[in-house]
Amino acid sequence: MTIHEATLISSSEVAKGTSAFCFSKPIGFTFKAGQAIDLILLAPDLPVGQGERHTFSIVSAPFQNELCITTRMRDSAYKRRLGSLRSGALVHIEGPFGSLVLHNKTSRAGVLIAGGIGITPFMSMLRQAAHDALPQDLLLVYSNRRPEDAAFLQELGSLEQKNRRFRMLATMTQMANSSQAWSGETSLLNESMLKDVMAGLAEPVVYLAGPPAMVAAVRLTLSKARVDDDDIRTEEFYGY
Ligand SMILES: Cc1cc2nc3c(=O)[nH]c(=O)nc-3n(C[C@H](O)[C@H](O)[C@H](O)COP(=O)(O)OP(=O)(O)OC[C@H]3O[C@@H](n4cnc5c(N)ncnc54)[C@H](O)[C@@H]3O)c2cc1C
Repeated sequence: MTIHEATLISSSEVAKGTSAFCFSKPIGFTFKAGQAIDLILLAPDLPVGQGERHTFSIVSAPFQNELCITTRMRDSAYKRRLGSLRSGALVHIEGPFGSLVLHNKTSRAGVLIAGGIGITPFMSMLRQAAHDALPQDLLLVYSNRRPEDAAFLQELGSLEQKNRRFRMLATMTQMANSSQAWSGETSLLNESMLKDVMAGLAEPVVYLAGPPAMVAAVRLTLSKARVDDDDIRTEEFYGY
């Protein structure tokens, strides 16, 4: 796969302990919403492509000019190096790859289930869908511990206003530890909640992204809710 050069344009905190990094989009780089890249942080002592790499879903949409990723800023060697990058810093990007992309048949609804940072591939899809006025029903089920941990919550609210075919159910499962107000759902994703929220959607295809333990648990819940395995697509964010 080709290795592209890109430079850091900006970085910002988008939720507590979660930052977005936007890079220049290499000329000729195209991708589908939901796909991922390897972001390679350069080590001067190593040959091209041999720097430290991590995989990230692209959180910006294909129509946008920049290539952005969003990540939990934990205390790993890679994240320390990522966090120390300044505007203009050179990185290498390999990709895009991955098949977590929306199905073509728009008469079938898409149900996007995100656990925490698993929101990233779905942000790209939802930004693109609103931009294209995609004629497809999309439902996002977004589970976080607290509102302060939930990246893009405000933008998702705006996308709901902009795209009448998109609606969101957000749940905050540890409100006892939160300093923010929340009047919405607070339970863990369960069978009856998923059945209720998906009722009436035409032949939904379910997309599931997040840490492996969350993906495994929700997959089990979906099977109890009698969602056919063939209609479930998953992305596990290893490393969490
Ligand atoms: C398709 C895909 C998309 C992803 N998208 C995002 C995203 O949008 N945002 C985001 O924050 N993260 C994403 N991840 C996860 C990301 O690549 C990192 O693993 C994660 O951010 C943790 O990195 P770290 O530096 O905090 O921890 P690290 O110190 O790198 O890893 C923590 C632990 O996980 C283990 N580990 C790391 N990678 C793997 C692996 N591939 N397989 C098995 N074990 C592993 C390590 O051995 C270590 O024990 C994605 C992963 C995949 C596969």
